[in-house]
Amino acid sequence: MTQTADQTLAIIVPAYNEEDAIPVFLRVMTPVFDDIRASGLTPRLVFVNDGSRDATVQAIAAADWPVDVQLLCLSRNFGKEAALTAGLAHVDDDAVVVMDADLQDPPELIAQMIAHWRKGAKVVLGRRTDRSEDGPLKRKSAQWFYRLHNQISSIEIPYNVGDFRLMDRRVVEAVNQLPENRRFMKGIFAWVGFEPVFIDYKRERRSVGRSKFSGWKLWRFAVEGITSFSEVPLIMWTYLGALISMLAFLYASYIVISTLIFGADTPGYASMITVVLFLGGIQVLGIGILGEYLGRVYSEVKRRPSFVIAEDLHIPARGGSDDG
Ligand code: UDP
Ligand code: MG
Repeated sequence: MTQTADQTLAIIVPAYNEEDAIPVFLRVMTPVFDDIRASGLTPRLVFVNDGSRDATVQAIAAADWPVDVQLLCLSRNFGKEAALTAGLAHVDDDAVVVMDADLQDPPELIAQMIAHWRKGAKVVLGRRTDRSEDGPLKRKSAQWFYRLHNQISSIEIPYNVGDFRLMDRRVVEAVNQLPENRRFMKGIFAWVGFEPVFIDYKRERRSVGRSKFSGWKLWRFAVEGITSFSEVPLIMWTYLGALISMLAFLYASYIVISTLIFGADTPGYASMITVVLFLGGIQVLGIGILGEYLGRVYSEVKRRPSFVIAEDLHIPARGGSDDG
């Protein structure tokens, strides 16, 4: 690959209520931009304001950016997955980095990512080897999620890989081709393939503010991920149903035979009610899982876009851009 002078790197940053994080982000990123330029790429920033209710937009507009900034404002809060989708749909740079606004993913790694990309890697993934800043419950549940997901899905999500990554333009084009509007990005990124290179790092504490992902939101995210890329929860009922019917048949045979031999037993209310309640629970659970998928089908057939852009602003680098 020959290196042309005007290759660009877009850094996509979804931001939801991050007004306090923006100044810190600018300060920490300033030397990183120099590193990126030193590696022969022109960096630019693409913020996706995901319907923030605070002064995130003002904070971005007021900051003194040393690079060109594109600010995509979604018309409301669509969620991080949609924000990433919007960002990726609006770039055609040679390489694209996705990172959070809260600097939990160390931006110094971007230079290493670029080095791997220069050597031919199409996807470079940041892998969190140390998540001690995340809290035991989040770590444990994340581990269960990855294990379950990978056991029952046709595609494998690498463990402890978040959205922090570098992608070649070709990978971004592939991601943009997937038409679904309920977008579980970890799954989509894995689905498009391309052999990744991993860079291990320690996940840092949030620069300021609080995580936007509560327990319930994380649970829904996990359900979304599994129902997006696995049909096992849907088809396992056939087998579970067959197993239960078989056991019921055996039990019925036993009752008939024992009645024939020993005569009528005293009616077993306890075992009866147990079986009834158990089967009732199983049925409702099965219907619930059908509902998860039906809900997805329903929202996909409506063919609604996964985001709406309210504004697409351009903030030139400080000192003005010299291309006019
Ligand atoms: N985010 C977003 N929309 C949302 C929630 C979060 O764009 O509805 C952004 C947020 O501003 C941040 C990134 O997604 O840049 C990761 O969010 P957060 O740090 O709250 O998640 P965590 O790191 O705790 O998983
Ligand atoms: Mg975070």
